[in-house]
Amino acid sequence: MIEAGYRCAVCKAPEPLQIDHIIEWAQVQTHEFENMIVLCANCHGRKKDTSNPRHINRASLKKIKSNLMLLNGRYSDLERRIIDAFREKGAAVGLAVFIPERLFLLVKFLIEDGMVSVHVYQSAMQMTFDNGATVLRDDTLKLTLTDKGQTFIKDLETV
Ligand SMILES: [Zn+2]
Repeated sequence: MIEAGYRCAVCKAPEPLQIDHIIEWAQVQTHEFENMIVLCANCHGRKKDTSNPRHINRASLKKIKSNLMLLNGRYSDLERRIIDAFREKGAAVGLAVFIPERLFLLVKFLIEDGMVSVHVYQSAMQMTFDNGATVLRDDTLKLTLTDKGQTFIKDLETV
């Protein structure tokens, strides 16, 4: 609800609102965040009724949702920069960026949402200096764009 600013994601009507599945519950059987969208009763009707000339199809809802996710604070600044980096490189599946492991919390939602897959490279070195100080090992995360991430980025560009 907060994501859409307490308004319908399609027409911005303030009420009556409901949280709806983009792909029907019967088909997905999960309440994944990216499949949920806030709609007013009117737009919900337009979504349900495929014979309505103003029918809203799933593809349009997915595009609206992708943009909402980027605009309304689900993703951290680092996650947005990573999305931009993938975008600038053409958003091909398999593109990778590397970040220090200690930044994990800042990319958590990209990983949880399945936009990127993650591989941990463990740092082999842990240095101890003459004075006894130890440099903490800092593992590296390799974040690779998934099919889902690619679709997400493409949907951003077509609204
Ligand atoms: Zn609406």
